[in-house]
Amino acid sequence: ADVTGILAVQGAFAEHAAMLDRLRAPWRLLRSSEDWDDSITRVILPGGESTTQGRLLRSSGLSDPIAAHIALGRPVLGTCAGMILLAERLENDDSVYFGALHATVRRNAYGRQLGSFSATGSFGDITDMPLVFIRGPYVVDVGPDVTVETRVDGHPVGLRQGSILATAFHPELTSDTRIHELFLSL
Ligand code: GLN
Repeated sequence: ADVTGILAVQGAFAEHAAMLDRLRAPWRLLRSSEDWDDSITRVILPGGESTTQGRLLRSSGLSDPIAAHIALGRPVLGTCAGMILLAERLENDDSVYFGALHATVRRNAYGRQLGSFSATGSFGDITDMPLVFIRGPYVVDVGPDVTVETRVDGHPVGLRQGSILATAFHPELTSDTRIHELFLSL
């Protein structure tokens, strides 16, 4: 079994499931610890509201199994709020959730006026990719084991650290499946 668990306590989890359907990859929504078992070999942390997600992560009992999965070096894709949940440090918030991604992330980095916008960019070998931002973060600092895969206006917005992929943008809100294909290849 090779099932992707999609954190589904809040946010854009259905859009990730639709992406995996297009790629014929099995998935399961994770709402409580009872949804977790050994068939889950990958995890997606979707966009949404990271403070709400962080609270529900703890109350759902999913925080521990997902943290253990990450500690084993297994594949994780975090998009937007998911990147915030992964980060070791938030520049403008005292919260730390998984703290696994060696990066400092600024929440709501684009402010109110420019909160949501589209751009085009790369993620490593994936070029000419549509980038959709919705009140997203950007990265202000990364550790030596992190590769910056995407930049917009000079700011890192796509990172890779081993089997962790993290994007400030929302690949699941486009018709471009390449980030998900890369994730499924890890
Ligand atoms: N602004 C949200 C947060 O800080 C993230 C936005 C998103 O995931 N689209 O949690």
